[in-house]
Amino acid sequence: MALIVQKYGGTSVGSIERIKHVARKVAEAKKQGNDVVVVVSAMAGETNRLVALAQQVSESPDERERDVLLASGEQVSSALLSLAIKDLGCPARSFLAHQARIETDKAYGKARIKSIDSTRIKRALRDGEIVVVAGFQGVDEEENITTLGRGGSDTSAVAMAAALKANVCEIYTDVEGVFTTDPSICPKARKLDRISFEEMIEMASTGARVLQIGSVELAMKFAVPVHVRSSFTDLEGTWVVEEDESMDEVLVSGVTYDKNEAKITLLKVPDRPGLAAQIFSPISGANIVVDMIIQNASEDGTTDLTFTVPKADYKKALSLVEKTASVIQAGGVRVDPGIAKVSIVGVGMRTHAGVAAKMFQVLAREEINIQMISTSEIKISVVIDEKEMEHAVRVLHEAFVEKQGNL
Ligand code: ASP
Ligand code: MG
Repeated sequence: MALIVQKYGGTSVGSIERIKHVARKVAEAKKQGNDVVVVVSAMAGETNRLVALAQQVSESPDERERDVLLASGEQVSSALLSLAIKDLGCPARSFLAHQARIETDKAYGKARIKSIDSTRIKRALRDGEIVVVAGFQGVDEEENITTLGRGGSDTSAVAMAAALKANVCEIYTDVEGVFTTDPSICPKARKLDRISFEEMIEMASTGARVLQIGSVELAMKFAVPVHVRSSFTDLEGTWVVEEDESMDEVLVSGVTYDKNEAKITLLKVPDRPGLAAQIFSPISGANIVVDMIIQNASEDGTTDLTFTVPKADYKKALSLVEKTASVIQAGGVRVDPGIAKVSIVGVGMRTHAGVAAKMFQVLAREEINIQMISTSEIKISVVIDEKEMEHAVRVLHEAFVEKQGNL
């Protein structure tokens, strides 16, 4: 007998029919002799609807009240699913965040889970109940309702699995698992059977949208095996697990892309200590996350400095940078929102040389110009023209995934 945490995303509980379907799957897992804790997202589209409602009432909604509103989507789906399970003759009980004792910090809209006191949930399980937890929500130490950021039910589920020392955290979604790249861009993309935590973190942070990145970080920290799979089939999905030796035989596990960044360049920045701090402090002060940064070597006492920020923030970042540019007497500011970041990810890069060179050759052959490069131990990202993104994804997938192994 195992303890299983199952998480169902918005599409999987997107209609009454689907909620009933999920109830049957949950009841089946219980009938097989397992203890089952279910974590649910809001019904598909509901969180967006609530975000829009808040926006209609107030241009910059108060964060506390906004979280009270947003958390309501999961209250509805957890109650509906419990009702559906009970209707099948299985005892079930819904738990909101304060009942499940999910305590977070106070960062409304992007709260982090600090602790879970699972006493009550364990008691319900002992009583033979199926536990249905509202995902995405928490409470801070003053019992204010918080939410965990978009896609946060993944994190609720992994945290619950860690707290309960569950045997597995199953993430049920509308795709069959984690793919080598986006199948809608590259028809040859295939489902991965297994991927390491670290690769999954890099994939999520470079554009793969299947899991919230915080959930994978948590899974890695507590060694929770995660099984990403479809709620519409019984097929095995992708296991996200600890790295083992067989994994670094594969050079590249996935090709990802991100169109949500813009590039800003400061020209002819005087080459003096302290200027980078002067440029980036106001940007971080405005809570804008800078991704890639490159600074060129200086020849004439000035350097060009290029960096990327989320597209949604680039106008704000630009106005801050323009102010700094005039104070420090830089040569000017350029902005380009028409860029995309394409990345290749794989633990095999740690032990194999030449992956970057091959990536650049593949792009060169296609005459795709690389504007920026950044690397980590197991990832290489390039910034290119947005118009060439799909093409780049396809040729990189072909070179590294379809024809694996030969550098
Ligand atoms: N309902 C929330 C969202 O749409 C949380 C989740 O689905 O994971 O972001
Ligand atoms: Mg999701």
